Amino acid sequence: MARLAALKEYGEATNRDRSRFAGPRVARPAAAYHRRPVKIQEADAKKLLLAQGLPVPPYEVARSPAEARAAASRLLHGAGHARQVVIKAQVLVGGRGKAGGVKLASSDDEAEHVADAILGMTIKGIPVRKVLVAPAADIVREYYLAAVLDRGARRILLMGSAEGGVEIEQVAETNPGAIVRIHADPLLGLRDWQAREMAFRLGLAGHLKAAVGVAKGLVKSMLAYDADLVEINPLAVVREGGPGGGEERLVCLDAKVSLDDSALFRHPDHEALRDPDDEAPADVEARRHDISFIHLEGTIGCMVNGAGLAMTTMDLVKRAGGEPANFLDIGGGAKADRVAAAMRLILAEPKVEAILVNIFGGITRGDEVAHGLIEARSRQDRDVPMVVRIVGTNAEEAARLLEEAHFATAASLDEAAAKAVAAARAAR
Ligand code: GDP
Ligand code: MN
Repeated sequence: MARLAALKEYGEATNRDRSRFAGPRVARPAAAYHRRPVKIQEADAKKLLLAQGLPVPPYEVARSPAEARAAASRLLHGAGHARQVVIKAQVLVGGRGKAGGVKLASSDDEAEHVADAILGMTIKGIPVRKVLVAPAADIVREYYLAAVLDRGARRILLMGSAEGGVEIEQVAETNPGAIVRIHADPLLGLRDWQAREMAFRLGLAGHLKAAVGVAKGLVKSMLAYDADLVEINPLAVVREGGPGGGEERLVCLDAKVSLDDSALFRHPDHEALRDPDDEAPADVEARRHDISFIHLEGTIGCMVNGAGLAMTTMDLVKRAGGEPANFLDIGGGAKADRVAAAMRLILAEPKVEAILVNIFGGITRGDEVAHGLIEARSRQDRDVPMVVRIVGTNAEEAARLLEEAHFATAASLDEAAAKAVAAARAAR
């Protein structure tokens, strides 16, 4: 194992929202939202990028030290004759390298040991269940290149830096000038001259054709997959054909892709790329019940039906002097069990000090909602004040049920918001 310790360790710092790198000009209307884009594993990301023609070196995925050994054996003794392999933890956090999750190995035995060690790790709280095994690259220089959705500019932004590798976060903070930013045309995409400009400004003139291909490929991948981030760090110039000799080539050594989950319905096979380790149990549970669960930062939990009603409810809570802790949109036609599930999810959030239920009955029946609320409250172990407003279909029936169960109700939305805010204050 002494040799293991001698192997180089690498890593990026944290896994942050890359749109921050776009600079202060960028409006961040959704800053208060904890959006949950679907992050996917490096190996899956590489597969998507390969399909768009990007230069990704070959790799295999292994779930056990024995599988890693077999993969390494193929790479070390097969046609490619790799001198070393790189073994990389497949977890959805940045800085795997720095955490010891990226290591080199020179033999089958060593590959098995290294894989065993990495598969036994947890990185930033996440257990490593898979590793990627690839021929180790002989890196000449590392660059950073990413395409990100720039919501403020309503365009795809291509960002590049010649200071790629593990310290890109620091570059973004301390030397933002070292990041080259080019917006793709919303209709024409990234044009050739823009891709060339990026290549020149990164100092990749010697690999112009390849760099242009990668730049255009990233933007193309953004569109093809409805991604909100496609990031290559490092994009590396590597030496091929052993030390001293051979050619240089530009390759994508790492890949990070995150998908817009609102567009997942257009890519049914991407659903399987979701990593359950990346999702909070509450979000998994919400999805299971077809509830949109949006996390905010205040103290008032909001259960609503319909996106428009959700927005209005947020506004009125704010106007009444409160801050929403979240909203759960139970959608149209919700039955009692979905309502009860939503209520459990709200109650499980410790920051929630009061609950506002605002339901407009159309297809959704008020009495169903009332039954769900009554059932949920009969099981709750935390006493959180709740104000309910139900109008529309079967509202009278709902009002009767809620009154019998001693719920606080409100006739108007303004009144409901004011009562919820007052209850939250009183709860302090
Ligand atoms: P991250 O730390 O999670 O971003 O993982 P990366 O895949 O980016 O790996 C981190 C660092 O490990 C890279 O910046 C490289 O310097 C290094 N690295 C990754 N793959 C190889 C490889 O095949 N050969 C060598 N020599 N270094 C590598
Ligand atoms: Mn990386």
